[in-house]
Amino acid sequence: MILSMAFIVCTFIFASMIAIVYFSKKHISTTETKLYNFILAISMLNLIIEFILCVNILLDVELYSIYNLIVNKLFLISLFTWFTLFTIYIVSVAGVIKYTNKNIKLFIIYYLIMIILFSFLPLDLIDENGVAYSTGVAPYLLYCFCIIYSIIWSFLTTIYRKKLKKKILPFLAFILCFIIILIVREIVPGILLNSFSTAFATILMYFTIENPDIKMIEQLNIAREQAEKANAAKTDFLSNMSHEIRTPLNAIVGFSNLLLDDNTVSNQAKDEVKDIVMASENLLEIVNGILDISKIEANKLEIVNTEYSFQKVTDELVSLCRGRLGDKPIEFKTNFDPSIPPVLYGDSSRIKQICVNILTNAIKYTHEGWIEFKISTVIKDNICRLIISVEDTGIGIKEKNIDKLFDKFERLDLEENVTIEGTGLGLAITKKLVDLMNGKIVVQSVFGKGSKFTVCIDQRIVKNPTIKVEIKEKYSDITVNDKNVLIVDDNKINLKVAEKLLETYGIKSECVESGFDCIKKINEGKKYDLILMDDMMPRMSGTETLKKLKDIKGFNMKVIALTANALTGMREKYLAEGFNDYLAKPINKDELNKIINKYLNND
Ligand code: ADP
Repeated sequence: MILSMAFIVCTFIFASMIAIVYFSKKHISTTETKLYNFILAISMLNLIIEFILCVNILLDVELYSIYNLIVNKLFLISLFTWFTLFTIYIVSVAGVIKYTNKNIKLFIIYYLIMIILFSFLPLDLIDENGVAYSTGVAPYLLYCFCIIYSIIWSFLTTIYRKKLKKKILPFLAFILCFIIILIVREIVPGILLNSFSTAFATILMYFTIENPDIKMIEQLNIAREQAEKANAAKTDFLSNMSHEIRTPLNAIVGFSNLLLDDNTVSNQAKDEVKDIVMASENLLEIVNGILDISKIEANKLEIVNTEYSFQKVTDELVSLCRGRLGDKPIEFKTNFDPSIPPVLYGDSSRIKQICVNILTNAIKYTHEGWIEFKISTVIKDNICRLIISVEDTGIGIKEKNIDKLFDKFERLDLEENVTIEGTGLGLAITKKLVDLMNGKIVVQSVFGKGSKFTVCIDQRIVKNPTIKVEIKEKYSDITVNDKNVLIVDDNKINLKVAEKLLETYGIKSECVESGFDCIKKINEGKKYDLILMDDMMPRMSGTETLKKLKDIKGFNMKVIALTANALTGMREKYLAEGFNDYLAKPINKDELNKIINKYLNND
């Protein structure tokens, strides 16, 4: 008996410590946690009652006294309660029964009936050579329920083992513990281990599944997964939206450019068309900005380093700025350090994007005076530090606003700048891009006088370049005769745009509306100097069509991917798929020039 009591006391102390830790911690209120509160409380009660029983035996309390009978009955009820709650817990984590009011009422009725039964059914107490135990209908009823409950546990833990995952552990441990207790009782008859077994399972539950810290981490993980899913859905939505907007924009930009080149169109109409082109380009920039910021947030924006011609980048930037300045009374000054090596290794398109953002802001927020675009360098070993600065005599930025400058969607002094278009994304993207390239960006500004944005980025110097340094490419006058181009696109308007754009080079093209028709033409033996292939086509994508084309014996035509998908890395993706090149929609005249020059101009 002393052994039983020692066991119970130790278990009680341990369980109490766990209960103190458990109840003193903040925990999430779920059905399971609420059930566990009860399970923990009842297992403590089991220990206390069993301890009293031991004391009674030790003190030789009259076996058949009312007091002894009541304590024994209470013990039966307490054990039954623990087993019932434990079963409900398993049912709950397996998600078999819903906690509706009706079910709770049914459970309460069932529980009350059982308590009445346990209270009134006979219970005999037997003392055989100092080994005391109870027998009779009431304990047998408890044994019956224990067996029924064990069957339910085994059934549920087997069927729902995947869903329960590590929650299965305490149940398995409890079954194991039960077997061990049966063996121990055979060896040491009379040892009281009922409350120990329930406390053991309860403590194990604490360490495996009901620890508030573990629960909190689980909840945080769930919340993180949900947030990640929502973020991924947002990125998908934005990239789809960008695709959807780019497709009609292709038609607007394409046809507007054609009208600008059309001699029959009046000058006044051309002025209006120019506005359409500018508005479309603005819209395109907004779409690209939203796409970029969502990619940055999803950590999907990558820096793609390649060799590039530095002068080509600055030429493109200068011509873009001059176009954007229009007839604003602003002097645009450039100052590029001649010691900058001609070929650098880095992400030229992202460097361009950074410059475009700060240059466009300078143009937007300067009404008169000058803007200076300066690039100087510090060269050390094979690293060239580009110090890019854009200074303007514009409206300037208030000191209190400088800190907010790089926050996304943050537009400063909105009331004053209400007429200036913008989304407040440009500088947020610029900052992230500079960070991704391990660079620095600083702002100096005097409100009302002007601002200066300076960016420092290191680029590797390429001593033996593999690319040709194109000094100045003149594309605009290319005329290509006797060339045959096939355009594959499911969108009729886009086919017309591409066809008309190619016509300006003197190229006659054929159009088909699906990959199937394209394959058919090639199988019929048709030869083309170039195939422009849209990727996003129903039933058979451009990529799938290309794969099928490559399977055709002797097929060696040049295929250019045409897509409204403007995600970074698309070029690399399409080249890896086997396309010769990539053209983004809306088709940019300069990009098309390059393609034509590269693949169709034999001069
Ligand atoms: P937006 O699309 O509004 O131009 P940005 O992120 O590029 O978004 O810029 C954020 C804000 O910083 C702008 O709304 C503007 O108030 C301010 N800003 C940026 N560049 C300049 C500048 N060169 N001069 C004055 N204010 C500027």
